[in-house]
Amino acid sequence: MPHSSGGGSSSGGSFSGSSSYSGSGSGASSRPTTSRTYYAGYVPYVRYSSGTPEYYYVDKESRKHNAVIGCIGSVIAFLIIGLIFANFLFAVLSPVEKMQSYQEGYTFDGINDEAGLLTQDEKTRIQEQLNRYYSTSGIETHVHTITEKIYEEADKDDLETYALYDYVRTFDNEDSWLIVVEDMGNGKWQFQGMQGDNTDVWLSEKTTNRFNNTVTDSLWREEGYGTALLTGFTELNENALSDIDPMADGGQTVFIIAIAIFAVLLLVPALILISCIRTIRNTTRKLEKEGYHELSNARMVSVNGESTPLLVTCPYCDGTYAFGELSCPHCGAPGVTQPTE
Ligand SMILES: [Zn+2]
Repeated sequence: MPHSSGGGSSSGGSFSGSSSYSGSGSGASSRPTTSRTYYAGYVPYVRYSSGTPEYYYVDKESRKHNAVIGCIGSVIAFLIIGLIFANFLFAVLSPVEKMQSYQEGYTFDGINDEAGLLTQDEKTRIQEQLNRYYSTSGIETHVHTITEKIYEEADKDDLETYALYDYVRTFDNEDSWLIVVEDMGNGKWQFQGMQGDNTDVWLSEKTTNRFNNTVTDSLWREEGYGTALLTGFTELNENALSDIDPMADGGQTVFIIAIAIFAVLLLVPALILISCIRTIRNTTRKLEKEGYHELSNARMVSVNGESTPLLVTCPYCDGTYAFGELSCPHCGAPGVTQPTE
């Protein structure tokens, strides 16, 4: 049953336990959207208790207006958070792309064994690994072996500078990788990698460090150039995809935390939206449940300084009811259409 809440208006009231009935503004100066007192523009609701009319006045327009604004705001918030979320998911879950220069079916001779350090069998098996890496990443990898004599004749400051010149001479793009292996004689060696700018995602520091360590370790164990390179490239291929997987190495934890944050962020507009939809749907439902119905054609008159619907008397049963009723609520006779008072 409705009861007075006393929320700022001497005769104001709200329904028990329903926050959506207390109106949007609860300040002393703002009008409640549901009231026992009539305000201009409010729709009267009436029920008859022991023949006596009881009224409630509802500011339907403003209630709906506020709720609709709340709905629109929530949907916009939903969309914005959802877009950011989708963008995040897309960035994390979409596979890293191959080099733009990648062409399916493209073949290349990646081994220039100028120093004669590799057997034919080793060349074949290393080339297989280079092909495999190309089909995964689109990175064309070349191995160039040189002797001390070749290095000195090139007259470069160091092997890194040599490799840079060698890269530029070999490739006309930034999508490639070159490994220069120098045999310095007397069991001494050094090798230097040179990678194009576009290969950084695939050939990260982690990936290239692992390759360099593996090749170095193998050469230290004197397993030979062919075995060292083959081991390095095989390992490269085995880890190529997991190295660029954002879910590896704690990425999964970060991902789950991010999802949780988004879920909480989405919950806020979701709750507001639900509350707004409920407000729209419940504007009058509760009143109707309690026996009230809308008095759409009421005529307001002033009685003792307060606005109240005009009352008429039924010519059939002498019952009193509010003008605007289609039929007499007491005997069911057609409603009075012309007030005589
Ligand atoms: Zn009647």
